[in-house]
Amino acid sequence: MDRKIIISKSKYLAGLQCLKYLWYQVNASEEIPEPGFTARFIFKQGLLVGEYAKKFYSEGIDLGKIGDLKEQLVKTSELLSERKPLFEASCSFGNVYSRADILVPADTDRWDIIEVKSSTQLKEEHIHDVSFQKYCFDKAGVKIRKCYLANINNQYIRKGDINPGELFKKADITAEVEETFKEIEGRVEEMLLFAARKSSPEIFIGKQCNEPYICPLKDKCWEFLPDNHVFNLYGSKDKAAELYSKGILSIKDIPDGYNLNFKQKIQLECAKADKPKIDKGEILKFINRLEYPLYFFDFETFSTAIPLYTGVKPYQRIPFQYSIHILDSIEGQPKHHDFLAEGAEDPREELLLNLRKQIGETGSIIVYYESFEKGVLKELAETFPDYSQWISSILIRIVDLYKPFGNFHYYHSSQKGSASVKNVLPAITDLSYEGMEIADGMAASVYFLYICGNYNTGESCPAKEEVEKVRKSLIKYCGMDTGGMIHILRALVKEVV
Ligand code: SF4
Repeated sequence: MDRKIIISKSKYLAGLQCLKYLWYQVNASEEIPEPGFTARFIFKQGLLVGEYAKKFYSEGIDLGKIGDLKEQLVKTSELLSERKPLFEASCSFGNVYSRADILVPADTDRWDIIEVKSSTQLKEEHIHDVSFQKYCFDKAGVKIRKCYLANINNQYIRKGDINPGELFKKADITAEVEETFKEIEGRVEEMLLFAARKSSPEIFIGKQCNEPYICPLKDKCWEFLPDNHVFNLYGSKDKAAELYSKGILSIKDIPDGYNLNFKQKIQLECAKADKPKIDKGEILKFINRLEYPLYFFDFETFSTAIPLYTGVKPYQRIPFQYSIHILDSIEGQPKHHDFLAEGAEDPREELLLNLRKQIGETGSIIVYYESFEKGVLKELAETFPDYSQWISSILIRIVDLYKPFGNFHYYHSSQKGSASVKNVLPAITDLSYEGMEIADGMAASVYFLYICGNYNTGESCPAKEEVEKVRKSLIKYCGMDTGGMIHILRALVKEVV
């Protein structure tokens, strides 16, 4: 007997990104890697945002908490006659199935769809998302009048309890939805045909592997590429796709004279010569600007859709940790200081108090990617005016170690087109972030929120031992960022003296 394939909203969106991804979702979902801790935590943040949006309709009925999908479908059709706002109402017709975040009674017999998103801006994929919902509800006989998107309002400032009326900004997207609506029928038919195939379709890798989301099958689909492949070319991926379509996979195989930009040309030079590019003059200029003692400095911050403290906006960066390594001479023994907030209170003032004690009055402050540290410091100066003069004196001492790499004054093929510290450190030293429990800034912020205990995402509260383990990993990670910078600078010095 032929199996019945159901295209749900998430499958429809997967199919829009790539039909091969859809095929795996329908036929071999066990081969799609599970999302990691960070992705799960961010997903839960989305659910939390949805809960706040529901508060806007106090008389609403939540169907998401009733039984299984079958029961939810039955209950939805029963409750439609009550003409009350419905949360997670579901519908199905033929081979399609969808749920709506919020369905609000409009005129006598129609409904409005409100889709809640934790982003601050309307994105193209949101339109497709809501179009598919409207398509399903229309097919199931539920007439839709208007479609809205409720995004997070990044101008909202928390004052006491969260005010859901101010936290969201609602946009009428009915016209945009109508535009894409006409294409859905044909797309669903195409998706059903592809999903019914016996084996996964042959689809070329390309831009769709990263847009609108990084596809979880990327490691599997991209594993055939050589180490220094054309998708590592700096900048837009259009060039890479063009080369790939011509059968050129390795950067070293790009023909001379091919239309590349300045940085891509350096990548080609390095690949062909099999050695790094070192612009000694520019690197020397950078080194000569430094004034000892050197303070290698790094912040860790978190930002949440729902502001945690009074006076804070959605997604405002809240620094909770820093690390400083101090060096009196390039080969000297570094001194180390760090700060990691404890508990659920706003950590910023205590962090500033400590930082002021630990950063001396003279010497360069070396960061990696200055716009981040400078931005956070400027925001702190606005919130804590008593510190603003001192912060201004800090800002003018900042030197950005990213620049020699961002400008490709140093480039090694193993950086894979990136000047991020995670790629530069193993390229220029024998150190790397590999194998660390916490190995990037996003993970650091998520783990901090997990242990600080004031962000209710449904994660169970970790035991004391777990909290200690995470704190040690956070300290190690942030210390690696600043300790690693010392090694990077020493390696640069070695190249030019
Ligand atoms: S990695 Fe790319 S080609 Fe492979 S399934 Fe995902 S989007 Fe499609």
